[in-house]
Amino acid sequence: MRPSILDPLFASVSTLNGVGPKVSALLAGLVAPAGAEDGARVRDLLFHLPSGVIDRRRREEIATAPEGVLVTLEVRVDRYVMPSREARSQPARVMAQDATGEIALTYFRAQPQWLEKLLPIGETLLVSGKVDWFNGRPSMIHPDFVGSAEDAASLPLVEPVYPLTAGLSSRVLRRGVDSAFAKLPALPEWIEPSVLKREGFPAFADALQALHNPADPSDLGLTKPSYRRLAYDEFMASQMALALARQNARKQPGRILGTDGGLRARAEGALPFILTDGQRGALAEIYADMGRPDRMLRLLQGDVGAGKTVVALLAMAAAKESRAQSALLAPTEILARQHFAGLARYCDAAGLSIVLLTGRDNGRVRKAKLESIVNGDTDIIVGTHALFQDDVAYHDLGLVVVDEQHRFGVHQRLTLTRKGRAPDLLVMTATPIPRTLVLAAFGDMDVSRLYGKPAGRKPITTVAVSFDRLDEVVARAGRAIEEGDKLYWVCPLVEESEKSDLTAAEERADVLRQFFGDKVGLVHGRMTGPEKDTAMADFKSGRTRIVVATTVIEVGVDVPDASIIVIEHAERFGLSQLHQLRGRVGRGDKASSCVLLYRAPLGETAKARIAVMRETEDGFRIAEEDLKLRGEGDLLGTRQSGLQSFRIARVEEHADLMEIARDDARLLLATDPDLASPRGQAMRALLYLFGKDDAIRLLRAG
Ligand code: ADP
Ligand code: MG
Repeated sequence: MRPSILDPLFASVSTLNGVGPKVSALLAGLVAPAGAEDGARVRDLLFHLPSGVIDRRRREEIATAPEGVLVTLEVRVDRYVMPSREARSQPARVMAQDATGEIALTYFRAQPQWLEKLLPIGETLLVSGKVDWFNGRPSMIHPDFVGSAEDAASLPLVEPVYPLTAGLSSRVLRRGVDSAFAKLPALPEWIEPSVLKREGFPAFADALQALHNPADPSDLGLTKPSYRRLAYDEFMASQMALALARQNARKQPGRILGTDGGLRARAEGALPFILTDGQRGALAEIYADMGRPDRMLRLLQGDVGAGKTVVALLAMAAAKESRAQSALLAPTEILARQHFAGLARYCDAAGLSIVLLTGRDNGRVRKAKLESIVNGDTDIIVGTHALFQDDVAYHDLGLVVVDEQHRFGVHQRLTLTRKGRAPDLLVMTATPIPRTLVLAAFGDMDVSRLYGKPAGRKPITTVAVSFDRLDEVVARAGRAIEEGDKLYWVCPLVEESEKSDLTAAEERADVLRQFFGDKVGLVHGRMTGPEKDTAMADFKSGRTRIVVATTVIEVGVDVPDASIIVIEHAERFGLSQLHQLRGRVGRGDKASSCVLLYRAPLGETAKARIAVMRETEDGFRIAEEDLKLRGEGDLLGTRQSGLQSFRIARVEEHADLMEIARDDARLLLATDPDLASPRGQAMRALLYLFGKDDAIRLLRAG
């Protein structure tokens, strides 16, 4: 149950003074969290922070007042220039002066009586607004403040500006905010006292007050203690929720996987190469987790081509030592097949049996596969979401490996782990997510990073070429083909529709066929599974030498002897996507290259992206740059990213706070796993405040 102290904050905004049904409806669209069904609450209004300030403190004299800047002038009202009756649409102009010159205060559709009252002739007044200079003459249109020096003393010279919506004025919103503050209860402190002190955080209510009532524009700064305090609160709520989920997952006892290492040694012996140091390091961490009775919750981050699949294979061999099955879940059919093919070539020699289960299997084939899974004949099951389906039962699922996790929802992940007895979970991601985002998305998940690439890889040369030079690129492709190379040609990502994507790819394939005939293949998202497989198999075998593709090849395709990738309209791709695509080459021992074919003129961001691509191949650095260039919201694409967005905090700005919040959450749970202490109770309130109260149910579920 929500602590009753929060009730006033969870009341509808319509309970506030000055907020009627019309304003409530506007606020529901403006401040309520996405998906809120019952409109905006008092809390939402308090979390709706100003985006800037109006600063009337700048005093100027008329002659020196700069164009377009908000200033306050002290002037004496001189005379009126009223529009004639015939020209009612003309403005009224009130001429005023100071020692330096004369200015026109301009009013449209003003009643003369009203003006005379506001600006009596002969009075000296303060006026503030933006000054316009036209033909050497200054004017101020509708000063937003007019008053005597005494009036000014009582007026906030610095006033917050809020994001608004049509029909809602700043004044009305502000009135709502003021009455929301009247309802804000004194809440117990949830932040660990030492953190509070070290960071110099004000109390929650004081931080909100400071941000809604800035005394200076800089008070709204993201790095100011008030803002950081609220960002910390928000991170804390999400880290606490993740920590509770993890605590809950760990309550189910896990199991020990792996015995004498015999099968692992055999599997390693079946590989035609030796493991990299990075792979060994990651495996040591994974084996240690598997060998403990707790459940493993580990994220394996490795750049494209770093060799994650082999790591997964050896972990699965360890599971088999304990007679447990492993499932490998891939986001797409192509990737599932790729993994299956990649693993299957070693499985025989390693003494592991493997099966591929996808949506394409049906009838007798599917039935036979399901049987081999349920009776324990197969050790490794590779597949797509078909692995979650109700009729898929496992003999003894001990390890779940999820590839490219961010495309799966948390829900799907849970469904699969439920099919085993508290199986260990290893999540592999090729998108080198920066550490802060890992924390944001996975919280306390343990992380292994696979640095470096298998030995013998040659660096990839990246060049940027303008589209006018398409001829040269085609000629170069021709030479490469003659020398026995293979090329990917990735086609424009067209925003409007899938159809135009397809058309672009087909057109490009047609053009290339004029030069290279049937050496040109085509893969796109609208082909059926078997069609795609055939096209990729032709490319792999060398029947085709150039494959034109839409971005379906983005993840996972492994054709080690492809050494050139041309990316058309490179300016339309995000940095991480470009990096993923480039990772399709440079997998063999040949020198490889990546041609970024762009259409000029390039925007600033596109230029910066291309510069980063040319400068580095380090996926982790690229991910950090990507985060800088476009902000956290987009990094992994918005689609089912599983990554949450924050209302107040900015992941890039407040990265340091995320780590502190993670530790603070962990520490509190270690001493107070039921959140029963006074601080634990305060923490529950925080979870409600930021809509993370789902996590509290985990406490009760016990
Ligand atoms: P990732 O999944 O991390 O993108 P993969 O596991 O698909 O990478 O590996 C990419 C390629 O590198 C595969 O062809 C794989 O066989 C090969 N490979 C993996 N580990 C090594 C290694 N230690 N030495 C040489 N080649 C390796
Ligand atoms: Mg892979």
